[in-house]
Amino acid sequence: MSFLTGPGREHLNGHKEETLHNEIVRVKPKKEVFVPLNNGSATKVDVYVNEGDKVFVGTLLARRNDHFNVPIYSPVSGVVGAKKNMMHSVLKPQEHLIIEDDGKYEKVESFKPLDYTVASREELVNFMMEAGIVGCGGAGFPSYLKYKNPVDINTLIINAVECEPYITSDYRFTKESLEDMLVGVRALLKMSTAPKAIIAIKKSKKEMCEQLEAVLKDDPSLSVFKTPDVYPMGWERTLVYEYCKKRYNRLPSEIGIIVNNVTTAIAFARALQYGEGIVEKVVTFSGDGLKTPTNVRVPFGTKVSEIVAQIGGYSSEDVMVIAGGPMMGKTIPTDEFVITNYSNAITILKNVKVEPMECMRCGRCNDACPAGLLPVRINNAEKMKDSDWMQKLRADQCIECGLCTYVCPSKIDVTEGVRRAKRVLALRKG
Ligand code: SF4
Ligand code: SF4
Repeated sequence: MSFLTGPGREHLNGHKEETLHNEIVRVKPKKEVFVPLNNGSATKVDVYVNEGDKVFVGTLLARRNDHFNVPIYSPVSGVVGAKKNMMHSVLKPQEHLIIEDDGKYEKVESFKPLDYTVASREELVNFMMEAGIVGCGGAGFPSYLKYKNPVDINTLIINAVECEPYITSDYRFTKESLEDMLVGVRALLKMSTAPKAIIAIKKSKKEMCEQLEAVLKDDPSLSVFKTPDVYPMGWERTLVYEYCKKRYNRLPSEIGIIVNNVTTAIAFARALQYGEGIVEKVVTFSGDGLKTPTNVRVPFGTKVSEIVAQIGGYSSEDVMVIAGGPMMGKTIPTDEFVITNYSNAITILKNVKVEPMECMRCGRCNDACPAGLLPVRINNAEKMKDSDWMQKLRADQCIECGLCTYVCPSKIDVTEGVRRAKRVLALRKG
């Protein structure tokens, strides 16, 4: 079965009204930040500072130096402390570098700004690497890799769909940074070699669609692409298919397309204009487990527990903390973890005990899967510990969108079973 064979999309209750119309609130760490040195996949990270060193916002602290090159710049000014292993939003403990925040936010230019209109494509790609720009849509993949060797690229898609419930950080950040966003998109377009870029956004976001159409009207290379309000429209494969009705195997560049998140374009614009890497993040804190759902702007490395306390606290004693949205995010067993340089949301829900019932073999999970998988069968294969069957059912291609759990009338956490099967296959692969 191929991708998107079934309906594979659902209109979900967005819960976005809780934060959509409110301005972003600035929140500061209480006394220190914990800069993650690893997002769970780096094999070599060089640290350039020592305990006791004075640093500024923008000081180069460390660099991922394996098959990826990703510098990490200080999010606050203050003094370097010790290293500490603590929980990370990838759901594993990772090494963090403590910076004692002096509260002054004194800045240094991390690198010289660059005029994208005169810089060459190669200069821009190198600049993006040196700026440490990573995918800000929640993935954290180093963005320069997408632009290194573009071949026959016909369209750059700027993904502003933000389809998961509760999350509005992209919307708010874009609304408050339209000028920067346009600079970023134009620079990315030059790097992509494509003749045109489209900004993909849900048609239900009428006000933003109109605002974008007004600012783009005199530029024939940029346009707005309105998508249906369904989930998971922001998933790269769904979005690319919606735009050009074509599928690809591994990467959209195989069919001439590069996709980047809208807030990545904003981060890149800030690097180009002000010589700053990603030192702060706009993050949606939402869900019924919070008294006051809020979009916050914080230095990355700030603890989730501190942010929650500053925006009004929890609405219940028993909450579930999710790094990301409720569909694709990871449930973290503590709030003592930090905002990374690619976080976009923390969803906090009241813990409701759900008793699952027997599978009634209705097949709704199979119909809902946007990746064309058979989640109920993968669950059966996982229960029987039959890894050959899991492989045959392509469990490794699950994108963890959560739709199979969402549609299940028996309240079975089907996604969790598929996740376990994915882990089995990953271990088998080695
Ligand atoms: S979580 Fe995985 S198996 Fe379930 S619907 Fe999404 S892609 Fe399909
Ligand atoms: S949706 Fe739930 S009840 Fe229906 S087949 Fe899938 S697991 Fe079984």
